Amino acid sequence: MTQHQADDLQDLDDLYQQVILDHGRRPRNFRALEKADGKAEGFNPLCGDRVTIEVKLEGDRVADAAFTGKGCAICTASASMLTQAVKGKPIAEARRLFEEFHHLLTDAAAQDGEEERLGKLVVFAGVRKYPIRVKCATLPWHTFKVALEDGGKVTTE
Ligand code: ZN
Repeated sequence: MTQHQADDLQDLDDLYQQVILDHGRRPRNFRALEKADGKAEGFNPLCGDRVTIEVKLEGDRVADAAFTGKGCAICTASASMLTQAVKGKPIAEARRLFEEFHHLLTDAAAQDGEEERLGKLVVFAGVRKYPIRVKCATLPWHTFKVALEDGGKVTTE
């Protein structure tokens, strides 16, 4: 993490900032999966974020999810928290989480129960104030969605 990246986050709410910085510095599930069932590569040219998401599926569940790549603190933290959030979830539920996360970042009015279902992911609500940063946070999710279809490449442009 460079000073520049830390500065970008200084306006976020303190608690939210702590969580994002922690995941940005020590990302969880940062590894390649052996024999992944799905894989996709995401690229955000505005920031330079690159993230590869891999998933292992068992029946209708996401058995495992992991990522590799190089992104800014927000992108890395988002990918890290995504892998934690979707692991063990039914695929349908993981897709719904994508929709809800997307709402959280692009639509000021959260819908009923959305914040509870998002759990720790609500820390990204603060990113909404920074439209350019929204793509950093949503890139891993767009990439995850394509990885479920084993779909290839994603770009935010
Ligand atoms: Zn970024």
